[in-house]
Amino acid sequence: MNVLISLDGISYRSFAGYMQQRLENGYSCCKKLITTFPSVTFTAHAAAMTGNQFDRHGVFDNIVARPETMERVALYGDHEILCNEALHKQTIFHSLARNAGTSCCIHWPMTSGNPYIHHLVTESSSKKKLKANVSVEEIDRVALHETTQAIKAGIYDLIATRFVGYDALSHQYGKDSPEAMHCLELLTTHLDQIEQTLKETQKPFNLIIFSDHGQSDVQSFFYPNEILAKSQWKQHFRNKQIRFVGDGSGALLFYSSLAHQQNKEIMAFFNQIPEVHRFYELAGDKPSACKPFGILDLKHMVCGEDIAFPEQPKYQEMKSLHGYHPANVDEMNGFLLCLGDAFTKSKVIEETHIENIAPTLAQLFRIAHPCDGQPIKDIFKEYE
Ligand SMILES: [Zn+2]
Repeated sequence: MNVLISLDGISYRSFAGYMQQRLENGYSCCKKLITTFPSVTFTAHAAAMTGNQFDRHGVFDNIVARPETMERVALYGDHEILCNEALHKQTIFHSLARNAGTSCCIHWPMTSGNPYIHHLVTESSSKKKLKANVSVEEIDRVALHETTQAIKAGIYDLIATRFVGYDALSHQYGKDSPEAMHCLELLTTHLDQIEQTLKETQKPFNLIIFSDHGQSDVQSFFYPNEILAKSQWKQHFRNKQIRFVGDGSGALLFYSSLAHQQNKEIMAFFNQIPEVHRFYELAGDKPSACKPFGILDLKHMVCGEDIAFPEQPKYQEMKSLHGYHPANVDEMNGFLLCLGDAFTKSKVIEETHIENIAPTLAQLFRIAHPCDGQPIKDIFKEYE
């Protein structure tokens, strides 16, 4: 029995106070799990589950645009743009199924329609079953219940569960707010209960816990489409040839049907703006349905939104956010913990990359899973 838990949105710094106790209880830990850029849920989970970077899995953000029309597409609720065979076939769930293994996913992003998952409980299906205005704590309680039931059923080789409460409350109240910290405390008791349930089966088990990205407090707001609409490129903006896309994030995707030289000029223009950290051009020409020309990384504590007049800001109440380049804003990075029969005890590793999770799972199952990442060998007993 192998269980993978994602604690959404908890920075390695916010979790540091809980690390020592887990180490004393035999967990090995990776203090810093280097996340993706942009440091957002879908991109990070795609990296964790495929072991690949976005040039291969094609998940650039939680919100993308159709390059031909500039239509903005929010991918929440597992949109078919993402949840298709090309992505599903790259996941560890596919590699496991090919080797006659079974998996169960609970509130895990981008799993809708994945035919290689044997039991699927999506977040949207749980929300539909619960009454309106249900709290995130209640959604996480469902995830906990489903997880312990799946462990007790004893029929899955891999159970993957995501807890969403901390991330949601952190956005709403701030990463260190009493609301978010109370939720974090509650999630640690959920982890204890999962560990206890695994031990009660009296069968070999492995438990991996990680966080997909951190959070950082918001200080100011930035609207790059409003800047485009007043710039020398305003006609191109009106003609829907250029557009930034993002939803209250530390990074926005830039789409363009203009010539490369013009895009370079736009990038140079934005690179002069004080709120901008760096404008990254996406190299490589791998075809992908929603690939942007580049990604605009903002400076720490600047929240970007893709509105243009007369649209009104939607995220001004948001207290914490993520998305920034993890090399620039360190608290975007998560952490990883593991406990179980295959793992060495109480070992501390300084850092590893999130795309190493899929190959690490493949190593646990002793199956092939071709990808960019590498197994985290330092946590395995067999390499001691
Ligand atoms: Zn997340």
